[in-house]
Amino acid sequence: MRTLVVAGYGPAGHRLVQELRALDVSGTWRIVVLAEEPRPAYNRIALSSLVSGRDPAALALPGVPPDALVDVRLSTTVTGIDRAGGAVRCSDGTRAPYDALVLATGSRPFVPPVPGHDLPHCFTYRRIEDVDAIRAAARPGRPAVVVGGGLLGLEAADAVRRLGMRTRVVETAPHLMPLQVDADGGRLLGELVRGLGIEVHCGARTVSVGPRAVRFADGTELAADLVVFSAGIRPRDELAAPAGLATGERGGFLVDARLRTADERIRAIGECAAVEGRCHGLVAPGRRMAGLVARQLMDLEAPSYADTDQPARLKVLGLGVTGFGDVHARTEGAIELRETDHATGAYRKRVLAADGETLLGRVEVSATSR
Ligand SMILES: Cc1cc2nc3c(=O)[nH]c(=O)nc-3n(C[C@H](O)[C@H](O)[C@H](O)COP(=O)(O)OP(=O)(O)OC[C@H]3O[C@@H](n4cnc5c(N)ncnc54)[C@H](O)[C@@H]3O)c2cc1C
Repeated sequence: MRTLVVAGYGPAGHRLVQELRALDVSGTWRIVVLAEEPRPAYNRIALSSLVSGRDPAALALPGVPPDALVDVRLSTTVTGIDRAGGAVRCSDGTRAPYDALVLATGSRPFVPPVPGHDLPHCFTYRRIEDVDAIRAAARPGRPAVVVGGGLLGLEAADAVRRLGMRTRVVETAPHLMPLQVDADGGRLLGELVRGLGIEVHCGARTVSVGPRAVRFADGTELAADLVVFSAGIRPRDELAAPAGLATGERGGFLVDARLRTADERIRAIGECAAVEGRCHGLVAPGRRMAGLVARQLMDLEAPSYADTDQPARLKVLGLGVTGFGDVHARTEGAIELRETDHATGAYRKRVLAADGETLLGRVEVSATSR
């Protein structure tokens, strides 16, 4: 029997275990899952539902049934990879030998290294423990600042608002959700968010955090009893360099379209994988990667991983915000078709290729989600 070690038990690692167990009917693989978090894999996408006190157990991903071939070790971090010895080292001092190793270590929130970023009233928004800590620290009526006006920043702002705090979102770019919507859509989004009682400060670069305020590059300050950093994510690839594995230009374990590193026994899936150099910050690509790797491990035919652009949707605040593809019309010859519905104020833009037909991108911002 061969041993697969999976480093990381998020949605990608979880899907890999499920798919491999479904395919491996005669039990040729024993699977050891090394999971840094203290609980089995859960649905991180639904994190915000915990703000109102929902039981975290409700987020558990459909369990891998008790299975003699699956050994999940919670609160166990992989601390190193001994490629020559074919084993990983773990935080509890043990070694886990492997025939195949799949890295599924996900991402961490990016916290700008500004003075004060680690004060006790500063938080990130990624794990169940983060929501617990924010709920415990929230003081209704007091000011809070969310650093980052992207998709996740707005989700964090909605959470803080629902906890009754006076919420401000600050974004370095000139408008909210700069990666997913264009300037016109971003401006409208800013108005809609303000209308919901959240202050919006764009073009504001955070330079320091003090015990009661956040300071910006232009010298202004905003009072803050609580600060949430939600300013992007970075792939968890810290195992790469010590093991001599390459990373992508923007981080992530560098893998080819078959999700293999240069070491044929080591693959990477999910947010930590830089597939042909590109990382994917959504759950669906990671699940697809997991399915492909499960097939490879069973020596079944598996296509190469192919990118498919996914629409990004804001799923909080009751607003309808979608961005897809080349929203900034950067493709040469791209044609932009803008439309504003004067009755509802909704904004739509389509970006077409020079042929006037092929859809390259789409932006929609409206006061109601459909
Ligand atoms: C609030 C919020 C809302 C989101 N909403 C959406 C959405 O609507 N749609 C969407 O597609 N995506 C959404 N996402 C993103 C989505 O959650 C991620 O794409 C997904 O979780 C990535 O899965 P993953 O398994 O690759 O990584 P992760 O979920 O990050 O899991 C990786 C796991 O590996 C562990 N780990 C890391 N290093 C080690 C190590 N050395 N040893 C052992 N374990 C390790 C980590 O602790 C973690 O448990 C959201 C994320 C957040 C935070």
